[in-house]
Amino acid sequence: MLFRKKIIIFVGLVLGGFLILLYSSFIFRIETDQVIYQYDVNILLYISILLFVAILILVGRLMKAFAKAQQSLQDLQKFKLAVDNASDCISITDKDGIILYVNGGMEKITGFKPKEVLGKKIGSKDLWGGDMSLEFYQKLWTAIKTKKQKFSVEFNNHRQNGEEFVAAVSISPILDEAGEVKFFVSIDRDITVVKRIDLAKTEFVSLASHQLRTPLTFVKWYSEMLLNDDVGPLGKDQRDFTQEIYNSNERMIDLVDSLLDVSRLDLGTLKIKGAPTDILKAIKDLIKDVGPLMIKKKVKLIEKYDRPLPIIELDKRLFFVIIQNLLTNAIKYSKMGGEIILEIRCDGTANVLIKVADKGCGIPIKDQARIFDKLFRADNARKIEPDGNGLGLYIVNSVVKQCQGKFWFESKENAGSTFYISLPIKLPKK
Ligand code: ADP
Repeated sequence: MLFRKKIIIFVGLVLGGFLILLYSSFIFRIETDQVIYQYDVNILLYISILLFVAILILVGRLMKAFAKAQQSLQDLQKFKLAVDNASDCISITDKDGIILYVNGGMEKITGFKPKEVLGKKIGSKDLWGGDMSLEFYQKLWTAIKTKKQKFSVEFNNHRQNGEEFVAAVSISPILDEAGEVKFFVSIDRDITVVKRIDLAKTEFVSLASHQLRTPLTFVKWYSEMLLNDDVGPLGKDQRDFTQEIYNSNERMIDLVDSLLDVSRLDLGTLKIKGAPTDILKAIKDLIKDVGPLMIKKKVKLIEKYDRPLPIIELDKRLFFVIIQNLLTNAIKYSKMGGEIILEIRCDGTANVLIKVADKGCGIPIKDQARIFDKLFRADNARKIEPDGNGLGLYIVNSVVKQCQGKFWFESKENAGSTFYISLPIKLPKK
C-alpha cells in the first residue's frame, strides 16, 4: 500500500514537471518568438525538475533508512534493557578475557559493582572466580579460544563478601565473518539453592533406601524359610503365593540397591575398592546369576573371550552390578528365543574391552542422547518391559567414569544394540 502511494506520487511529480515544461515553453514562445532562447530555458527547467525529483527520491530514501535505523535502535534498546535486567550474570569480554560489559545480574549474584570489574580480567581471584585448578582454566581457554566452542560447566565460586555459591557457567565465543574470535559472552547462573534441594533429595533417597533394606531382608529370609519347608510343607497355592512374595521382594531389593548406589554416586560417597580379580571367573558367576532369566526368555548366549585374560583390578561388587545390568537389559529387550553375544577382549594394552550385543528392540534415535540419564526409559522398552526403573545405565555410566573407563553403545531400532565398556586393568590412584 505504502509502495503504491510512493509510485503514484513519483509519477505525479514527473508528469507535473513535464506540464510545467510545456507551459513555460508556450509562454516564452509568445514573449520572445526566439527559438534558441526558448530551447535554453526549457532545458534549464527540465534539469531543475529532474533534480527536484531526484532530491525527492533521495529524501524519501533517507527518511526510510532513518526510520529503519530508529526501529533497530529501539529493538536494540529493548534487547539491552532485557540483558541489563536479566537475573543471570551476563558479561562480555574481549578475546583476552578483559571485561567490556556486565549486566545488573552480575552485582546481584557476585556483589561486585560494574565499575569495580570493567577493564579487569574475568575469572581473576580479586573478582568472582579463580577458584578452580590451572588445568581447568587451560581446558576452558582451549575450548573457547582455540577450538572456538561453547564451554559449559558447574563449579564452586565466591561472591565479593567471600560467601561461596555454585555457578552454572556457559561461555560462548562470538566470531567475526572471518571466523576469528571477536569477543566472549559468559552467562553465570547461581544454582546454589537448586543444588541444596538436590542434595536434600538425594540424602532423603539414601536414608529411605537404608531404612527399607532391613524389612526387605526379613521378608526375604522368612519367605525363603517358607519355600524351604522349614516350618512344615506348603500346599500348592501356598507355595505359589509365597514364591510370588519372594519374587516381588527380590525386585524391590534390586530397586533399593540401585537407589542406594545412585544416591552414593550423587553424594560422591561411593567407594571403589579394587582387588585383583580373575575377570573370566567373575563373568561366569554372573552368567549363572542371570541364568533363570535367560531360560525364561529362551535366550542363547554366545561367549567370545580372548585368552589368557589378564588379572584386572576390580571392585567385584560394582563390576557385578555393571555387567548384570548390561546382560539383563540384553535379555529383557531381546525377542523370545533371541541371541546375545558377550565378548571380552584384551589386546595387550592397559584396558579390557567388554561387549554385550543383542538383536532386540534397539534404542530409537530420538532417545539415544538421553539413555544414560537417571530414570529415563524409551517408549519401546516400556512396552516390552513395564517393570524397569531407568537407573541401570546411569549407574553403569557413572561407575565406569569413576574408574576412568569408557562406556558407549551402538543401536538401531528393531535391529538390536551393542554396549561397550573399556576398563583400565589397574584402577586409577585417587
Ligand atoms: P531399565 O532397563 O530398568 O529401564 P536401564 O537404565 O538399564 O533401565 O536402561 C535405560 C533404558 O535404556 C531402557 O529403559 C531402554 O529404553 C534402554 N535400553 C537399555 N539397554 C537396552 C537394550 N539392550 N536394548 C534396547 N534398549 C535398551
